[in-house]
Amino acid sequence: YRGIILVLGASGCLGGLVLAIADGDISPARAFTSEDPTVAPRKKLVVLGTGWGGMSFVKELDSKLYDVKIVSPRNYFVFTPLLPSVTNGTVEARSIAEPVRRMISSKGKQMEFLESECIDIDPVNKRLLCKDASHIRGQEHREFTVDYDYLVVAVGAKANTFGTEGVEEYCHFLKELEDAQKIRESVVDCFETACLPGLSDAQKKLMLSFVVVGGGPTGVEFAAELHDVIYEDLVKLYPTLMEFVSVTVIQSGDHILNTFDQRISSFAEEKFSRDGVHVQTNCRVMKVNKHDVEVKEKATGKLVNVPFGMAVWSTGIGTRPVLTKFMEKISQTDRRALATDEWLRVKGCNEVWAIGDCATMEQRKLLDDIAYLFEKADVDHSGTLSVQEFLTVMEEARERYPQIDVYMQRQHLKNVADMAEVSMYDEKHREKQLCIEEFKKSLGDVDKQMKLFPATAQVAAQQGAYLARCFNGLLDPKKKPEGPVRIRGEGRHRFQPFRYRHMGQFAPLGSEQCGAELPGDWVSVGRSTQWLWYSVYASKQVSWRTRALVMFDWTKRLVFGRDSSRM
Ligand code: FAD
Repeated sequence: YRGIILVLGASGCLGGLVLAIADGDISPARAFTSEDPTVAPRKKLVVLGTGWGGMSFVKELDSKLYDVKIVSPRNYFVFTPLLPSVTNGTVEARSIAEPVRRMISSKGKQMEFLESECIDIDPVNKRLLCKDASHIRGQEHREFTVDYDYLVVAVGAKANTFGTEGVEEYCHFLKELEDAQKIRESVVDCFETACLPGLSDAQKKLMLSFVVVGGGPTGVEFAAELHDVIYEDLVKLYPTLMEFVSVTVIQSGDHILNTFDQRISSFAEEKFSRDGVHVQTNCRVMKVNKHDVEVKEKATGKLVNVPFGMAVWSTGIGTRPVLTKFMEKISQTDRRALATDEWLRVKGCNEVWAIGDCATMEQRKLLDDIAYLFEKADVDHSGTLSVQEFLTVMEEARERYPQIDVYMQRQHLKNVADMAEVSMYDEKHREKQLCIEEFKKSLGDVDKQMKLFPATAQVAAQQGAYLARCFNGLLDPKKKPEGPVRIRGEGRHRFQPFRYRHMGQFAPLGSEQCGAELPGDWVSVGRSTQWLWYSVYASKQVSWRTRALVMFDWTKRLVFGRDSSRM
């Protein structure tokens, strides 16, 4: 049992290990213990990534059981939900970053951290090619290999430009801590530059036109933060420039925040309209030029140019290059993220798990089963079901497959229904018939188009913790020799499949207002929700140090306002 468990990312590989053991291709748990010197050395576990998935895995993992290496170009963890607050100085960048080594040592764990980027995964020889990620001037970026027995991939995702020309050159992204710092600097830079002598009004107007592409949670929160810093702080420092300022959000869908409850989406649109933040919906950005974005209006097909002094691109996530290469090797080329089964094992290779934004669970079989239930429910063979019958079928499917819960997630179900042109939540349409053929087609489309879970920190963290618990449980095979559940066609498994528990989501809207969707379909909007947001995010900090720093920053902002120094 020679080997190293490489933890790549932080949430996908454990499932593979679990299944491998369940399927009997790994020997008894004895093999994983290092306490008895007569027993074989610990397996090499490599974790790729130090984000939500990776660090949640590492935090839960019993490090005595494996020889753990963590590989990541970033030697710190970032609390991403507060990244938009860094763009305007509400919180400082360092307040939401926690060093990985501190996180490991504070838990008394023994793990090795390698500050490097994995550039190639060789699943046949179980070897990773890594590259030194240091920024030392003149330092050559050395490459080296790391062997693994088990690999957990948690490398997250990169910003997705959808191949739009000019985005990389002229837009900011809001994905990493460095991005947020650059945006903060650029906003102030635009104001300082607009103050220089010799600029015409038109030039000032251009310089102070801020465009946000993408009306999802990140784009909207950033636009709200930007509006706040301009009208709460910069207005006092640059009063003569205010007439030239504009903030525009460009959204391809009908509404901003369209993954949220419609009440939150409408509240956000009304608030932005009152605040003077322009929202252009049903517009697709075709190209980005140096000083404007070319936008196509969906309804008319007309091309319009929206000028900007600074633009932020926030439209979704794409695959990291290392995974694109890896996916080619394991025949997963048609996907954006690594397909895993419900134990988070990567399909098409052994002993590799994937968690977080870089992973998606393969549910094709499940979808086929649902389609079959629909056919069965069609007793009069009319080929249609009423919405009520549809719900009954979904209920039955849920009983048969506990993991189907994920499909009952409101947003996903809505997606399915929308695609079948049935509004599930609209009382007026309750009598509408649902065409089974159409629904089955929709399921197929949905399967292709949507990830099973939204790409959020919640999902990544839950997957990381789940996978670590499975890895930890491997030492105790006698308690449940047969495993707790039988999964059709795949034999017994020692562990329950991963199930996501949605804990709700927040949409901060600026001016101390926030929207929240909480479990049980509870929707709340307004100032009191903002206080809920403060308390949840303070409590979710990964250490007392960052918790204290973040709360200090919030207080500092209340007392002194935000710092607009450009540095
Ligand atoms: P990440 O957290 O991105 O971590 C990936 C890790 O992999 C990083 O450490 C990276 O350095 C490392 N890595 C990258 N490439 C390599 C490589 N080649 N080799 C090794 N390591 C590599 N989610 C919520 O639930 N709520 C929110 O309010 C929320 N707000 C957000 C706001 C912003 C601005 C952003 C950008 C995201 C937000 N999210 C939110 C989404 C959430 O941050 C992600 O879903 C989450 O970070 C995914 O976790 P992950 O571990 O998959 O990836």
